[in-house]
Amino acid sequence: MDEATTALDVVTQGQILDELMEMEKTMSITRLMITHDLSVVATSCKKILVLYAGRLMEFGTVEDILKNPQHPYTQGLIASFPSLYGEKTALKSIPGILPDMSKECPGCIFAPRCPYADERCYAQRPADVELGGIHRAACHRCKGGANG
Ligand code: SF4
Repeated sequence: MDEATTALDVVTQGQILDELMEMEKTMSITRLMITHDLSVVATSCKKILVLYAGRLMEFGTVEDILKNPQHPYTQGLIASFPSLYGEKTALKSIPGILPDMSKECPGCIFAPRCPYADERCYAQRPADVELGGIHRAACHRCKGGANG
């Protein structure tokens, strides 16, 4: 489902998500949701795959991604989303624009917008780093291991 609940009011959104989760159980189906709405993901999904410009940035359980994001893009996404329960702070946006995907990118495709980018990031595409369990991220800064 591509942005299945976007632009709906929260009551209707909640009803649709409840219905979808019920269908998932009773019909033994797998639900794949494409969304920018982290609240939809947090309340109705089990795993998250974070994509940027068509490349995998990070993958893990909802808890892995929302509580322990390791990729700078995931961290930026979460920082740009308002928290209902946390401290009230100004939202941050990710500076820059999407890359021109008609051009070859030998390194990390997020590098022009990443606050940590260095020479290696522009030259070498990062491999997926296993961070424990199913959690993985494609970033040169990530160190493998159970604790990320
Ligand atoms: S590989 Fe480099 S540019 Fe890409 S997300 Fe990691 S630190 Fe940023």
